[in-house]
Amino acid sequence: MSQTSYVSTDGVDFAARQEISFVCTANGHIFTRVFSDEITPPTDWDCPRCGSPASRGDGTPAPDRAPARRRTHWDMLRERRSMEELEQLLAERLRELRAAQEQEFSDQQADIWERAAD
Ligand SMILES: [Zn+2]
Repeated sequence: MSQTSYVSTDGVDFAARQEISFVCTANGHIFTRVFSDEITPPTDWDCPRCGSPASRGDGTPAPDRAPARRRTHWDMLRERRSMEELEQLLAERLRELRAAQEQEFSDQQADIWERAAD
C-alpha cells in the first residue's frame, strides 16, 4: 500500500487537506470535496449530480443567509449604558435644551423690548 506524499520533489510542503462530505437535500446524493486545511470549508455546495443544494454530511448547519444587520448608534449605546442611565441622560439633555430654548426666548424678548424702546 502506497502512502501519499505531501512533499513535492522540490521539497515544498503542500498544504494539508481536509475532505468534506456533503449530502444533497433533494435526492440524498453523497459526495465529497477536498479543501485546504487552512480554510473553513463551506457549509453548502451544489450537488454535482442534480444541482440541488447540499449540506454538510457532518451536520454543520449552513449559516443564516440574512445579511448581518448593521449596528446602529442606538445598538452601540445600549451596549455601553443601561436603560436607566439612558433615561437619565435623556432627561439631562432635555433640561439643557429647554434651558437653552428659554435663554433664546428671553434673548429674543429682550431684543424686541430694546427695539420697541428705540
Ligand atoms: Zn443531488
